[in-house]
Amino acid sequence: MHNKGMLLGELRFCAKYPFSQQARQLLRKLDVSSVADDLLAQSAKRVEASLRRADFAAKLNEIVSSQETFLLNETFSFPLSKMIISLSKDGFMLKQFARAEAERAKYFLKFEPDETIRELSSQFFKLSAEGSEHVVPLTDFLRLMPKDSKLATQSLSKGNVSVTRDALESMISEAVFQSITSTRVDENSVPKIFTFWANELKKFRKTAEPDLPLGDFDMHAAPPCMRRILSDLQSSEKVGHMPRFALATFCANTHIPIDTAIDFFRKQPNWNEQKTRYHLEHAYGLKSSRVKYSCPNCVKMESLGLCFRDETCKWPNPAMYYKRMMARKLAAKPAAK
Ligand code: SF4
Repeated sequence: MHNKGMLLGELRFCAKYPFSQQARQLLRKLDVSSVADDLLAQSAKRVEASLRRADFAAKLNEIVSSQETFLLNETFSFPLSKMIISLSKDGFMLKQFARAEAERAKYFLKFEPDETIRELSSQFFKLSAEGSEHVVPLTDFLRLMPKDSKLATQSLSKGNVSVTRDALESMISEAVFQSITSTRVDENSVPKIFTFWANELKKFRKTAEPDLPLGDFDMHAAPPCMRRILSDLQSSEKVGHMPRFALATFCANTHIPIDTAIDFFRKQPNWNEQKTRYHLEHAYGLKSSRVKYSCPNCVKMESLGLCFRDETCKWPNPAMYYKRMMARKLAAKPAAK
């Protein structure tokens, strides 16, 4: 595939931000009916990488030091990955991929000049300047800012909100997430080889569950949201308070032994067994008040950005999901003779 007229710097931009208008111009040259096998394999690998913790710093280094072929493949593998996942009809995987791509963009944006932040912002939402301040419509702010950001601390005027550069980076990242999760591909519009790769991804997903100390916990009965938190806890990156709280209350309400729950947090930075036990004992209602905390329901999880709903989600609460799945498993077991 040749690229005429784009400078290397522009290609690097497209490779970093394959969702941008500039990259979309380039993607017009992509003919899905004749994509090379290598590129499809690379696209499937991009999805697989999103199910693990990606090293964004290494990826950025690769992009800034690579030449045309690599940059083109990096750009083209983005829409191809979306197509393959969409064909796999795996909502959990699509959300994981969307989250990884959104985080990747956010990481890269940190190194960009203000001008690039403004340019990418304006591709997703209306951005204007008031003096030295960035201003966005309240509707876009509410749609794209993390749910726990404090609106009360923003300065509001005539339906607009003034935002910091950090907030703009978060809004771009969320816009990327939302646009990926809305991807739908008609099976009949792509060659059969795409379905082959979608099936390969499904197989990979089955074997990609994190290696966890399971104790009396059945990972395969856990809902997508909790599997995601458990997977994140296995990385060395610090997991935020709300996902930790959600997992702790989930364990408390599904009768998972407290020692098994403590082990889930063991790989976190600054791990401290005593402190973890203390917090979990509160969640389990084993401390003075003896009140067990409820697990946040699916509506709340969704509002916190912690829901990774897929077709298996049929109950209003992650704890109920787990209990019902366990009950089904037990019912399906042949009776002991
Ligand atoms: S629908 Fe409920 S159980 Fe399913 S991923 Fe979302 S929060 Fe978890």
